[in-house]
Amino acid sequence: MSASPTRRTPIAAPTAAPRIEPDTPPPWTPSELIAILDREYGRAPAQRSNAPVTELVLTLLSQHTSDHNSGRAMHRLLERFPTWDAVLEADPADIEDAIRPGGLAPTKSKRLLALLAEVRARAPDWDLAMLRRMPLEEAKRWLTTLPGVGPKTAACVLLFALGRPALPVDTHVERVAKRLGLVPPRTPADRAHELLEAQLAPSEVYAFHVDLIQHGRRTCHARGPTCDACPLATRCPRVGLPPR
Ligand code: SF4
Repeated sequence: MSASPTRRTPIAAPTAAPRIEPDTPPPWTPSELIAILDREYGRAPAQRSNAPVTELVLTLLSQHTSDHNSGRAMHRLLERFPTWDAVLEADPADIEDAIRPGGLAPTKSKRLLALLAEVRARAPDWDLAMLRRMPLEEAKRWLTTLPGVGPKTAACVLLFALGRPALPVDTHVERVAKRLGLVPPRTPADRAHELLEAQLAPSEVYAFHVDLIQHGRRTCHARGPTCDACPLATRCPRVGLPPR
């Protein structure tokens, strides 16, 4: 009987030696960030406007313009029309004229009227205090189903007008959070919003929002962040920036 061919144990292809990463410090936690950035920039205490419809309108007017210009547009609107009902009953050309300093007046005036009409249909007395008592996710849904209202606007209204722990993620918050490795670099803004909010205790939301905006404006600029002067540099992975 001939011997059966010897089966050879397949030899595994050599694998690359595991790469030994240099010790990477853990990313900053939200509470550490807040403590450091509060020390660095100081932080004004939260001032609640208690005026959710005003906050909605202001956020709409602030799209694609500076705070100064949207503030002027808002001021002129309130000066000419003493109530939201008066805005809805006005000649649309007058609304457009009032908000012109905020830019994109033809578009924004149409959006404003559609928004106010829907708010009045749902809350004829313009009282949105029920958003204070609703579960947070329900309050967000109530707002984001208004025409032209996305997660950022909804979060602004909930946080600044109603004191709810919803996190607005603007361009500064998103950029700084990604560079610090708090969210993956290619995360879309809406998802970044969810991921960041989930990392925060309710009591941290306002401080985190305000501090990251300060940091984005004053140090972690979109172009040319001043990492050498940054109080977070020792544990910042600088995601998306060239190696130093
Ligand atoms: S080290 Fe640079 S990239 Fe990191 S947070 Fe500071 S300024 Fe931004």
